Amino acid sequence: MVPFEELHLLIPGPTAVPEDIRQVMTRPMTNHRGRYFTTLLRELVDMAKEIFQTRGRLYMLTSSGTGAMEAAIANTISPGDRVLGISIGSFGRRFQVIAERFGADVTPLDFRWGEAADPARVREALAHNPPFHAVTITHNETSTGVLNPLGEICAVIHELPEEERPLIIVDAISALGAANLPMDEWGCDVVTTASQKAWGAPPGLAFIALSDRAWDAVQTARSPRFYFDLREYDRYFTAKSEPPWTPAVSTAYTMYEALRQVLDEGLDNVFARHERVARYTREGLARLGMSPFARGHYSPAVTAVTVPDGWTPQELRRRLRDEYRIEIAGGQGPLAERVVRIGHLGKVTEADIDPLLDALTRVLR
Ligand SMILES: *Cc1c(COP(=O)(O)O)cnc(C)c1O
Repeated sequence: MVPFEELHLLIPGPTAVPEDIRQVMTRPMTNHRGRYFTTLLRELVDMAKEIFQTRGRLYMLTSSGTGAMEAAIANTISPGDRVLGISIGSFGRRFQVIAERFGADVTPLDFRWGEAADPARVREALAHNPPFHAVTITHNETSTGVLNPLGEICAVIHELPEEERPLIIVDAISALGAANLPMDEWGCDVVTTASQKAWGAPPGLAFIALSDRAWDAVQTARSPRFYFDLREYDRYFTAKSEPPWTPAVSTAYTMYEALRQVLDEGLDNVFARHERVARYTREGLARLGMSPFARGHYSPAVTAVTVPDGWTPQELRRRLRDEYRIEIAGGQGPLAERVVRIGHLGKVTEADIDPLLDALTRVLR
């Protein structure tokens, strides 16, 4: 085995876990059907609902974020259902692929990477007969560093009469906890997140929230599901505040602490801090001649920047890691040779970005 190497982690998940959150992982194991854990789960779900800004249903899954995306599709979509898959990058594409795998009839609505989805084009695409059963959309596209104008897009979808309106299924995995997403106010039907993104907790848990309308779809969807069958999650939670299967207990300890910290700091303060640190990152990079890959709609959670001439993302990352012990992410898919990505989500401040800007100043000199 190689020795553990502690790096200053600035990737868009997993994010750095602060010491006080890390400490609770050492708490002894407990019975996931015992009094302590069921109380923790109930309170954890209540806190998560405050942050999702929903009064709907919310379940904790033991999986990564992709599991929650699969749960969203498997529980609300049947083979043959028409789905409008809005994509502005690799995670939007992933949602299209999951829906296709479950037999949905997916109409892709793809935008150029680096751009946000255009509400006017969404409106045009919705004029479809028969109407779409669901729309999938990424709130924060982690591959390009673009935050979709989700509120505006929801408003466009809600222009349709109720009986023709598709379910709005949102991948908010890297958005929730970094950007405002008032689920009920905007009329989103399914919203997902994962523990290792903007919460500052370790990987292992995902969360999925559903509107009443989505819950009706869960009852009638014909896709096969077992592990992610939300009817089981609901049955167990309603009867005894228990999860149906053994959860990632230790990650749940940390997630409780992480959510409590978000609520203590205050949602508006948390969003403002992410905005501020994102701007600080962009401005610092601009002084080094590096410009964001995104053309506006900058993400509060992650910045993708084009590497300077003469550099590859691999070489830049290697120098930062080997010489400065800083870990940033590379580009995904078609951006693999073009960009690096800096995660600034979770418990971050400007002080976490300074070592990166200092190191880049030296490396690029
Ligand atoms: C990280 C991420 C995912 C995938 O999450 P995993 O936990 O790696 O499965 C999906 N969508 C977005 C927008 C993400 O940032």
